[in-house]
Amino acid sequence: MDEEKRPKKTLLTFYIIALIVLLLINLALTPAIERQRVQEVGYNEFMQYTEEGKISQVQIESNKIVFQLEGDDTTIYETGLMDNDYGLVDRLYNSGAEFSSEIVEQTSPFVSFLVSWVLPLLVIWLLAYLLQKRMMKAMNGADAMSFGTGGFGRSNARVYVKSSDGIKFSDVAGEEEAKENLQEIVEYLHDPSKYKEIGAQMPKGVLLVGPPGTGKTMLAKAVAGEANVPFFSMSGSEFVEMFVGMGASKVRDLFKQAKEKAPCIVFIDEIDAIGQKRTAGSSYGGNDEREQTLNQLLTEMDGFEGNTGVIILAATNRPESLDPALTRPGRFDRRVPVELPDLKGREDILKVHAKKIRITDNVDFNKIARMAAGASGAELANIVNEAALRAVRNHRKAANESDFEESIEVVIAGYQKKNKILTDKEKMIVSYHEVGHALVAAMQTGTAPVQKITIIPRTSGALGYTMQVEQDNHYLVSKEELLAEIATLTGGRAAEEVEFNSISTGASNDIEKATRLARQMITQYGMDDSFGMVALENVTNQYLGGDATLACSPETQTKIDRQVVALVEKQHQKALQILKDNKRKLDEIAQYLYQKETITGEEFMTILIRKDALPGKTESGVVE
Ligand code: ADP
Repeated sequence: MDEEKRPKKTLLTFYIIALIVLLLINLALTPAIERQRVQEVGYNEFMQYTEEGKISQVQIESNKIVFQLEGDDTTIYETGLMDNDYGLVDRLYNSGAEFSSEIVEQTSPFVSFLVSWVLPLLVIWLLAYLLQKRMMKAMNGADAMSFGTGGFGRSNARVYVKSSDGIKFSDVAGEEEAKENLQEIVEYLHDPSKYKEIGAQMPKGVLLVGPPGTGKTMLAKAVAGEANVPFFSMSGSEFVEMFVGMGASKVRDLFKQAKEKAPCIVFIDEIDAIGQKRTAGSSYGGNDEREQTLNQLLTEMDGFEGNTGVIILAATNRPESLDPALTRPGRFDRRVPVELPDLKGREDILKVHAKKIRITDNVDFNKIARMAAGASGAELANIVNEAALRAVRNHRKAANESDFEESIEVVIAGYQKKNKILTDKEKMIVSYHEVGHALVAAMQTGTAPVQKITIIPRTSGALGYTMQVEQDNHYLVSKEELLAEIATLTGGRAAEEVEFNSISTGASNDIEKATRLARQMITQYGMDDSFGMVALENVTNQYLGGDATLACSPETQTKIDRQVVALVEKQHQKALQILKDNKRKLDEIAQYLYQKETITGEEFMTILIRKDALPGKTESGVVE
């Protein structure tokens, strides 16, 4: 409970300091207050002072006389007014007293108490209140909390109820296996007695694992939506971004609220932020807060029975980094993979999102889905939105197929860079480079057909690109296909060599990709004869691009490097040979692309399979 006392302690210190300051100020002001002291005297005394000429200043009011004595300006004297004393003014005048209207009337002791104590205290209280509110905001988000109720450490778990969000399984396209898996939980929440009768325990926690943007949050919401139960949602990072101990308190509070609202779904996004493997001896530094939070989460999960109706769903894209304690039976013991969508899934997701925008009738979503291989649900949603934006930009009422195609290219390669002007020579080099890729791909078996070739520069830095699109889903890739892909990647550079006998910087991206593929073939896929089926690299973060760490001796590493170089070089030679053998076609298509800047896969294939035109002339009229 330390964390709850901490802000109170801060406030207490604030109050004490404020009081001391107030005391000092009042003490400092006391002489000034005393100077203003009022003393009542009798009329006799007043007359005596007058006769003795001791009065320095005098003020005659309607019912009293106020005066001060010579040499004493700390006291104000007061006496009543005598009705029949007609010579008073003369006497005072003769005594040398000065008539004044500036002898200040003293405030009453009550008012002075109010001004010097009560008012400052009120101001201090107000300041403290504002300070506390600010602190609370910083800790708990925008939670409004009453002052002085000790509301610190309350979690800001938001409550999603079906009517507010309304996401159902039907809104989540594809992901059939995940939905099937979660359907059981929906049924349990609908009718727990069916399960209790048999004595079956629902898993307390379900871990949704998969790459970012594949719909994990959506699925969790859909479970709550289908079961019509409250949905508590919190991100793992929200637990740890505050003072030590606050996270644990938030976990406690989240579960308290959840148990009150059971049956319900608690969703913890990015659970890896708190659920990372604990390290030994890290009681100092930043890990402390995370570990306390994780411990609290584990305690809470153990603390309630499986059948209380609270189901915890958590999402992560780094399952391998989770603490084993989290994934042991009784905690997150069910793991639901939420993978990148396949062709059918992509098509469905596109259709779901396309319903939200106006489109022309003839959009072929299957084609768009094929072009967007490897895209996640979030990226597909983005592609649809980009298409709608493009239609608006072009003053059209509905998005058409070309809007979708262009928006995929935007997502892959960035926007067209209109003001990037290539020289003719550069344009020709890019043209040969791209056709080199396309031609090497087309002349080998096991490569994806060419969909489009363009030499319009993109904001991503690409000066042109060749888009290849698989016809179907591809789950297994053969060694031959990988080799063909490496050859295709080296095809751009090879075309420059064949035509210009020199090379440019334009191939850096290809070189990187080819090298990575060649390395994976050797170290991960066991496709090199000299190493055989030995894992030479460990892959972590498989859902976030995959980081590979070498797991072999330095000598082996040297050998791997040598093999990678040899493998890529062999494919490079193959590409060179293909292009040399088809030099006429290379020239013809490159010239055509140079003129048109963008050509479709069909145009490419038409020129490729066409019988050669008249010797020395191509169809496009360019003299060779
Ligand atoms: P995650 O939690 O896996 O990172 P989200 O559930 O937040 O992903 O998805 C982000 C967005 O992507 C969603 O709001 C939705 O628009 C879109 N999306 C992702 N997957 C799907 C899907 N299977 N069906 C429909 N939309 C999806």
